Amino acid sequence: MELLNGKELREKKIEELKSKVERLNELVGLAVIQVGSDEASNVYIGQKEKLATRLGYYFIHKKFDESITDEELKEEIDKLNNNEQIDGIIVQMPLPKHIDSVKAVNEISEYKDVDGLGFINAGKLMHGEEALVSCTPKGIIDLLDNYGIEIEGKHVVIVGRSILVGKPLACLFTTRNATVTLCHSRTIDLAKYTREADILVAAVGKKHFITEEMVKEGAVVIDVGINREDKKLYGDVDFDNVSKKASYITPVPGGVGPMTVYELMDNTYEAHVLRRKLK
Ligand code: NAP
Repeated sequence: MELLNGKELREKKIEELKSKVERLNELVGLAVIQVGSDEASNVYIGQKEKLATRLGYYFIHKKFDESITDEELKEEIDKLNNNEQIDGIIVQMPLPKHIDSVKAVNEISEYKDVDGLGFINAGKLMHGEEALVSCTPKGIIDLLDNYGIEIEGKHVVIVGRSILVGKPLACLFTTRNATVTLCHSRTIDLAKYTREADILVAAVGKKHFITEEMVKEGAVVIDVGINREDKKLYGDVDFDNVSKKASYITPVPGGVGPMTVYELMDNTYEAHVLRRKLK
């Protein structure tokens, strides 16, 4: 078994990105909008700010009270859409229940939608057109490519069909000529599918949900899950047992997570370059 070390790969990729950013001779700008004070969001935004600062990006963190309305949030997003210093905008999820998160994400200009969650970028991805692609799926493909793991012709089984992970990832794998099975909570006899996987992705949000019996000998296992318990992080995969069977496996922490934050910075750089071309 070999570890797919996202932390190590991220360091290499950050250095490459840093050189590209330095050659620009212009500031790359990223804005994060937060509503309320969700504890996990505070941690994720902290990680984004740290990496943005390391890359020399201009970084804005706009934090609003839970009482903000849809209309007020739209106005704030519009200000950032019109701010020339900002190349990328993300709305940190989760939003409070009274805010329409789909609407909020779609207020972001398609050129600044660095999470790739708006209808335009998601539609372009579906069509196989160049798009700003959701960061976690992009990071997973990057990890596989960098470890020289073949995708074409492989049977990929993804557990979890969220708009953030499962669905865009299914699109990316399909574009790369894999055969994809997308599973979810209504899948009957889940293990029947997971045991068939050459590449198995778990994006469920349940600690140690994927057990040894659910995995084929020699499978590549990608664990997206982040489950917090007693201040410790656990993946969706029972790592200790599944790793005995897997050919490659991502650890939690240190696998997919670090790649996700890197891809956000890469998307922001790409958005900067694209906007300059459009001018
Ligand atoms: P989500 O929106 O809650 O989606 C979870 C998915 O799992 C849904 O499609 C759900 O099915 C499916 N599911 C739930 N129970 C199931 C079961 N018993 N059998 C089969 N499928 C089941 O979650 P998400 O945003 O995709 O995130 C998933 C996990 O990844 C979370 O732990 C999250 O924290 C983590 N995450 C990590 C990163 C990273 O950078 N490492 C990034 C994003 C998310 P239904 O659709 O039928 O409800």
